[in-house]
Amino acid sequence: MHKNNPAPRVPHPSATSRVSEKPEASEMSRASEKPEGEKKTPPPYGPRNQGQMSPDATLSWTKIPDNVDAQGESKPRILIIYTGGTIGMIEDPKTGSLVPFDFKHFIKSANKNDYATYFPKLNRLGYNIEFEAIDPPIDSSNMNPARWEELGTIIANNYPHFDGFVILHGTDTMAYTASALSFMLANLTKPVVLTGSQLPIGEIREDGTLNLITALQIAAARQPNSIKPMVQEVVIAFGRYLWRGNRTTKVSSTDFGAFRSFNYPSLGQMDLHITFNTKRLLRPEETGPLQLYPKMEDAVNIISIFPGINQKMLEAELSVKGMRAGILRTFGSGNAPTEDWFLSTIKKAVDNGLVLVNVTACPAGGVEEKRYETGDLLAQLGVLSGYDVTCEAALTKLMHLFGRGLSPEEVAHYMTISMRGEMTITD
Ligand code: ASP
Repeated sequence: MHKNNPAPRVPHPSATSRVSEKPEASEMSRASEKPEGEKKTPPPYGPRNQGQMSPDATLSWTKIPDNVDAQGESKPRILIIYTGGTIGMIEDPKTGSLVPFDFKHFIKSANKNDYATYFPKLNRLGYNIEFEAIDPPIDSSNMNPARWEELGTIIANNYPHFDGFVILHGTDTMAYTASALSFMLANLTKPVVLTGSQLPIGEIREDGTLNLITALQIAAARQPNSIKPMVQEVVIAFGRYLWRGNRTTKVSSTDFGAFRSFNYPSLGQMDLHITFNTKRLLRPEETGPLQLYPKMEDAVNIISIFPGINQKMLEAELSVKGMRAGILRTFGSGNAPTEDWFLSTIKKAVDNGLVLVNVTACPAGGVEEKRYETGDLLAQLGVLSGYDVTCEAALTKLMHLFGRGLSPEEVAHYMTISMRGEMTITD
């Protein structure tokens, strides 16, 4: 492991000098560099722009060789980072509940750097695999910004030494972690693949083995006739689909296809063959070394709008001490009540300097504030459109931008820009 040999260019998480930095020019160019499908006229929120579960006939799909070893002379070097989650859980004999356990002993023999003892399939892949774990492993319900910082730091410190990273994570908050890492890791050009499972890998019938092996193959895949990685962004590989991490939401607590991206097509499909939707993958300009922005400011609240919400509730949600931003989870295309008390409470919050972002509670589609008066009034008060962003991506993006020490005006500006392919701007 390269824990004691950090990449010199990566700032230590405690480096406060980073905190005041603005997103650099390279990030801006990535921001405007939208995936091919998004460059043309913005698509309307309709069937074409909703989650597409099957390949779009107009897109080009690239299949990786079934024998991934055949791709190049050098063995892919992959770092598995284990955080916990169902994939590595066992049943507590006393309570019968699933609890995290030290999974590394399961896939790696205790004293040797090989995987033969417990998980021979990893050896058969023929990769150079190393293993890192956060300690103790957690149910992902306990994921938080400090652990995102730890994960980002593990990736940054090991970045020069590996071709790709596979993060084993609980499904409950995987979409949040994928979104957070996508913002924390600027200039990322290597794959960061998150996966987990619905059933523990140690059970007889389970989905963890397939998800893990597939995630490793995706992390090892290269572009045709090139040493460049096929995936150059943070993704979730789960069940039959590969998704952009910051577009993804957990949709089922039981289905082996636990995730879906409703507003951006799948980046790949994992059936008999693994195929990539190459036109939808981010192709970042190689503008500089990886830059880690570890700080996430947890000063963001999510406020659900529902029939029956009253002034006291709304005021309480908007006046949490230390809060700097709020996500309004609105109806439909960004609608909310138009009663005077509601609008005046929102106006007061905006006047007090809160950054408020309108994000629809609908899983598919997005905010079109001008469509109804009920949404337009929010825009007139200074509430920003979240377009088709997921709540997970909006939350972690706000935490990231405030974590970088930006002013509310600067944060508001970057919330209207797609920094990592996380939303489609429709104005
Ligand atoms: N509670 C688990 C977790 O998120 C669920 C899972 O992994 O599927 O850690």
